[in-house]
Amino acid sequence: MPSTVILWFRRDLRLDDNPALQAALIDCDRLVPVYVHDPDSEAPWAPGAASRWWLHGSLASMDQALQTFGTGLLIARGDALAELRRIVAATGATRIHWNRLYDPTTRDRDGRIKQALRADGLRAESHNASLLFEPWEIATGTGEPYRVFTAFWRRCGARLSDVGPLPAPTTLPPPPESPDSLPLENLALLPRIPWDTGLRETWTPGETAALEQARAFVQGRIQGYASARDLPALAGTSALSSHLHFGEIGPRRVLAMVREQWDDPTADPVETFVREIGWREFAHHLIYHYPHTTDEPLDRRFAALPWREEDADRLLRAWQRGETGIPLVDAGMRQLWHTGWMHNRVRMVVASFLTKNLRLPWQAGARWFWDTLVDADLAANSLGWQWSAGCGADAAPYFRIFNPVLQGERFDKSGAYVRRWCPELARLPDKYIHQPWTAPSALLEHAGIRLGRDYPAPIVDLKASREAALAAYEVVKAAGR
Ligand SMILES: Cc1cc2nc3c(=O)[nH]c(=O)nc-3n(C[C@H](O)[C@H](O)[C@H](O)COP(=O)(O)OP(=O)(O)OC[C@H]3O[C@@H](n4cnc5c(N)ncnc54)[C@H](O)[C@@H]3O)c2cc1C
Repeated sequence: MPSTVILWFRRDLRLDDNPALQAALIDCDRLVPVYVHDPDSEAPWAPGAASRWWLHGSLASMDQALQTFGTGLLIARGDALAELRRIVAATGATRIHWNRLYDPTTRDRDGRIKQALRADGLRAESHNASLLFEPWEIATGTGEPYRVFTAFWRRCGARLSDVGPLPAPTTLPPPPESPDSLPLENLALLPRIPWDTGLRETWTPGETAALEQARAFVQGRIQGYASARDLPALAGTSALSSHLHFGEIGPRRVLAMVREQWDDPTADPVETFVREIGWREFAHHLIYHYPHTTDEPLDRRFAALPWREEDADRLLRAWQRGETGIPLVDAGMRQLWHTGWMHNRVRMVVASFLTKNLRLPWQAGARWFWDTLVDADLAANSLGWQWSAGCGADAAPYFRIFNPVLQGERFDKSGAYVRRWCPELARLPDKYIHQPWTAPSALLEHAGIRLGRDYPAPIVDLKASREAALAAYEVVKAAGR
């Protein structure tokens, strides 16, 4: 009897450094690589529109890679357990392997599936492809999860040299007689109304592109990363976030590439970059240990924060559309809409603006990002929003309210980023590019701008809204007493 093994792909869409694949290959005569589309089981965090777009490309690329090995991806749709059972019955598989996910909805689902398949008599095993360390392996001296990044990363650092990637396979066993795969198009992941031009122009999903992107970054741009990473007009960062989210490349491979290229791991650009991979790791650590933080503040005092009630819908819409009248905020929101990605510095600015100047709940911002980011990741997004709102682990203190004008003048000095995404402001001189409302009217006229007609007047006064936010914070402080 040939030994038939199922490899259940999820957000680990790669052949390189794939522990589930390597485990599946042991004593395997027939391999069934499977993807089950089951968004209902991920509710309320089923992939958003931009993520679905990426997923389509990533699955196509995975299928193509498998076909070069004489096999292919068996795509199914429906309840994951029922579909896996159907494939087990049709193929006679006796083992199934997959790589773990750490967010609350998929974790519960996967636990139930593992139990059920084992009860059916199958060997079902899960592995770690997406993290450097399991969230339960890193703990404080008293066995508690970390809530402060520096201490967490110091603990990881001591063990960093132990982790390394697994190689990609050189051959794969053939598939058995299997049920037909659904055509990828049947998953309807691509938009019916084609709003995705900007995404197509900007990104190439898939493992090959991920490895190329990482290699190019590690061999080149990483040198200037420490300073360029804060300048949104430059392509100074790795742009690996979606590739990492979908598991087209793993953090162990990224780290290995860095090590191969750079002898000195403490060299400034290297350390700064690897530390960001550490933040990704920290985000997963937190979501694993504090699963409620997808919707509720980690710092419970913030449940008492009074959010704005009047005019909330209109202000949220203006923020989403990049029509707040604050150029750096609008540029960021338009970059997000057009490309499905936003520079980290600007993510912090737009999040601070939403939660503090507009006093709208961080959950509303997180939801918008969830639907529009190609790298939408429950762990990183929840951490990023809670950090910005001041209520998360190791968060920016609530009273630290980014001033988007000063942020623009510091990190987008020449206004190149704002000019790119808000072209109606392009003719303004640098001095006014981040605060057009302070420009003399003759100058505005000369630049072809009438505020309120060609570009919005600010929807809030930055100074007054800052003071209102600080006043609201008093309630949180009182709740903590
Ligand atoms: C409000 C807010 C929401 C965010 N939502 C997400 C999200 O949904 N998905 C996501 O991947 N990142 C999110 N981030 C973190 C960060 O903005 C992105 O990871 C980064 O901009 C991606 O660009 P890059 O790949 O060029 O990053 P690089 O600077 O090249 O960093 C390398 C990698 O490190 C990881 N990383 C970097 N910064 C962070 C961080 N602060 N937290 C966690 N991981 C990090 C990412 O995987 C990234 O690809 C959010 C940040 C904020 C402030």
